[in-house]
Amino acid sequence: MTLQQTIAEYLRFTGHKGFDISAALIDCDGILYDSMKYHTLAWVKLMKKNGIKCTRDEFYAMEGMTGTEIIKMKFKSGAGKNITDDEARALYGVKTRYFKEQGEAPVMPGAKRVLETLKEAEVERVLVTGSQQDALLQRIDSDFPGLFGEVKVTGHDVRHGKPNPEPYLKGMSKSGKKSNECIVIENAPLGVQAAHAAGCFTIGVTTGPIPEKELYKAGADLVYKNMDELAAALPALLVALSIVKA
Ligand code: MG
Repeated sequence: MTLQQTIAEYLRFTGHKGFDISAALIDCDGILYDSMKYHTLAWVKLMKKNGIKCTRDEFYAMEGMTGTEIIKMKFKSGAGKNITDDEARALYGVKTRYFKEQGEAPVMPGAKRVLETLKEAEVERVLVTGSQQDALLQRIDSDFPGLFGEVKVTGHDVRHGKPNPEPYLKGMSKSGKKSNECIVIENAPLGVQAAHAAGCFTIGVTTGPIPEKELYKAGADLVYKNMDELAAALPALLVALSIVKA
């Protein structure tokens, strides 16, 4: 598909006449940090300790759901247990400990370049994550100084994790933007689904084991191989979108 066809398809799906992009809603894990391998290892350890069979791939596929949603689902399907909110929170505390024990997840190569390119183009950067991992969230302002503003949406702000569009709708309302004023940058199929459902032009980046076609299937408008490739493509993409005026 050409970029023109991609844009036409987006406009047909959303009913918008065009774009006025002034914000990028940006996911955290697998976009700003190369953290998903740490998360999936922590999840597998938690499940094994509780006698629940699982694979790491399952947790790559569930990325974007809140931690407590994942726990409730896996304990139900894997052990026939109904977990209360309090139990889920306690188990999530254990998972968080396993995550931290592995050391600090590295900053994703190319992430800074993407943020700087957006800043140069005067596109506001808004964090939108289902993550409740405070240790990682607190690093963002020091790892990406001056690149994020005050507006952030985290797992603490939403009732429903991705693929529910709530996190992205909240990102839009908190920053006072409409869906055709935002692009979304996401790595997870459920995150892409959430962004697409929220009506934003959705950019997928395959930074993990999940193939490109899964992100297109989830509703991504465009998919890039990594954050460096996205950074290189962004200036021309922003110009192409700005030509199709709302
Ligand atoms: Mg992610």
